[in-house]
Amino acid sequence: RLADDLAAGLQRGEIVAFLQPIVSLPLGCTTGLEALVRWQHPERGLLSPAAFLDLAEDAGLDLLLGDMVLRSACETMRHVDPAVTLSMNLSVTQLADRGLCDRISMILGEYGIPPDRLMIEITEHATLQRQPGGGRVSPEHTLHELRELGASLCLDDFGTGYSSLTHIRRYPLTAIKIDRSFVNGVVDHPEDRAVIAAMVGMAAALDLEVVGEGVETEEQLMAMRSLRCDKVQGYLIARPLAPEAVPAWVADRGRDWRAASAR
Ligand code: C2E
Ligand code: MG
Ligand code: MG
Repeated sequence: RLADDLAAGLQRGEIVAFLQPIVSLPLGCTTGLEALVRWQHPERGLLSPAAFLDLAEDAGLDLLLGDMVLRSACETMRHVDPAVTLSMNLSVTQLADRGLCDRISMILGEYGIPPDRLMIEITEHATLQRQPGGGRVSPEHTLHELRELGASLCLDDFGTGYSSLTHIRRYPLTAIKIDRSFVNGVVDHPEDRAVIAAMVGMAAALDLEVVGEGVETEEQLMAMRSLRCDKVQGYLIARPLAPEAVPAWVADRGRDWRAASAR
């Protein structure tokens, strides 16, 4: 019944991409927006991915859902400064889908968004899955195709997987996103601070961008700044925003992150 409900919701356009700003501390402005899917359920209200992503996958609806997320996000990106990039999370099924790159390219084209404005986010969990046969391809294949298209590639939840360093070598990455469990401890736990410093150093040596996720307090922001983590994202900056709130936020509040006390 839930799967039928989700299929109907997809048809009715209830799946929307909320967008959470990513800001650059040295530049002081918004450089990216991450699409985070929400289901505007007519009876149950606004649902988070934890409530329906697994269901979508089990019901074979996640390719359709992924396309809807991209469309919804692209619609919003049209009203935002073209220098701001769009980050999109990919599921295991999407990564194994032979047609994914072509569909992404087509959807971007429909909205006039150049592919180099797209940043793909993958987790190590997703890249470790293998789904052979039946029109499926390896994650590496899809990721190389997307890079050729012009998209950039970020390893999400960095530091929580099993073999991060292997992935860093194997995939054509452009960025890593430090998991919020480390950011959470950056002020009070010297170990977390040391691990973040090491991640930032490694990223610099490999010429990768680094984003810290889950920044919730001014103290965490200052700590990330002092560790030279140039890009941050989190509730302190902004919660994931409803589409209609995005353009004004980027134009007005998405500035002046250079100094922690600037707001
Ligand atoms: P993620 O990609 O690591 O996204 C970050 C999650 O942390 C989001 O949860 C976001 O709302 C939340 N977050 C951001 N800042 C803070 C903060 O300061 N504190 C705390 N406590 N949380 C923060 P959300 O939106 O519930 O998404 C959860 C996960 O679901 C995402 O993790 C991503 O893996 C997945 N997801 C979201 N949207 C999509 C999608 O369109 N497609 C796919 N395949 N997965 C998605
Ligand atoms: Mg993400
Ligand atoms: Mg993450």
